[in-house]
Amino acid sequence: MRAVVFERYGEPAEVREVPGPRPAEHGVVVRVEATGLCRSDWHGWMGHDPDITLPHVPGHELAGVVEEVGARVARWNPGDRVTVPFVCGCGSCPSCVAGDHQVCERQTQPGFTHWGSFAQYVALDHADVNLVAIPGDLSYATAAALGCRFATAFRAVVQQGRVAAGEWVAVHGCGGVGLSAVMIAAASGARVIAVDVSPKALDLARAFGAAVCVDARDTPDTAAAVRELTDGGAHLSLDALGSPATCAASVNGLRRRGRHLQVGLLPSPDGTTPVPLARAIALELELLGSHGMAAHTYPPMLELVRAGVLRPDLLVTSTITLDAAPDALAAMGSAPGAGAVVIEPWR
Ligand SMILES: [Zn+2]
Ligand SMILES: [Zn+2]
Repeated sequence: MRAVVFERYGEPAEVREVPGPRPAEHGVVVRVEATGLCRSDWHGWMGHDPDITLPHVPGHELAGVVEEVGARVARWNPGDRVTVPFVCGCGSCPSCVAGDHQVCERQTQPGFTHWGSFAQYVALDHADVNLVAIPGDLSYATAAALGCRFATAFRAVVQQGRVAAGEWVAVHGCGGVGLSAVMIAAASGARVIAVDVSPKALDLARAFGAAVCVDARDTPDTAAAVRELTDGGAHLSLDALGSPATCAASVNGLRRRGRHLQVGLLPSPDGTTPVPLARAIALELELLGSHGMAAHTYPPMLELVRAGVLRPDLLVTSTITLDAAPDALAAMGSAPGAGAVVIEPWR
């Protein structure tokens, strides 16, 4: 099969022929019809993810067709249209038994713990636990975005963030996951403040329901701007980019008893990130993480998509070929772009 492969961190990836995957007993091989390009892929390529071994094929936001099933798979057959959360649970550890597959103790992640979906085929483990059927009218390109950015944003805003109608929600960083969060929070009846350095990203945020946009290029203290706009601070605030600056701005822009959601990854040489914790004590803030979303919790999100309340299709701003993927991957660091780039490996 053809796949995007890199041999060294930070050095150009290339498209080449590699052996196709075989399914595990409990797994499947999926023919990849669409796979989103995500900043997490860039982090992996840069060497920020300890799970990756070289050579490596990135890609974790995918949709496609089941090609081959392992002997112990009961629920899926070749030809089924599926997507998958980027965190695949084992189905049997204490976290999975409690329903929290997104923090499984033996989790696998395509594109991190094994070869991913920037390829014509990808192997997915524990298929009965992790695969999600794509509703009939949802395109592969749209479904691909559900696995990472959209589901992650949904879990962050709705499940972890407990958004309520009428609340102020600040979203720092309006890339794929940030724009998804803007759309989901606005659809939940919240008043959304979008913060970014890109006018194009802010235009999209406005189109997706942001009530106010803050251009961080000419607003050095975005936290102060959020506090001012909201008469005291946001009820819920997301760092959807992942940087010490946006993390601090998110926490500092909260009102009393507000909730901070860390969604963007925070790589650092020693694994730590400074957070204004003193503010968390005095204002009784909640600091929360969000890590994908378990497959069994997809139905309420898919129902909102089916009803047209949520429009992940609008997030897909371009589709590219596998051959264009290495350059697009390298560009994610300096120019994460607005909206979602989706790779179609068979194009
Ligand atoms: Zn597990
Ligand atoms: Zn992702």
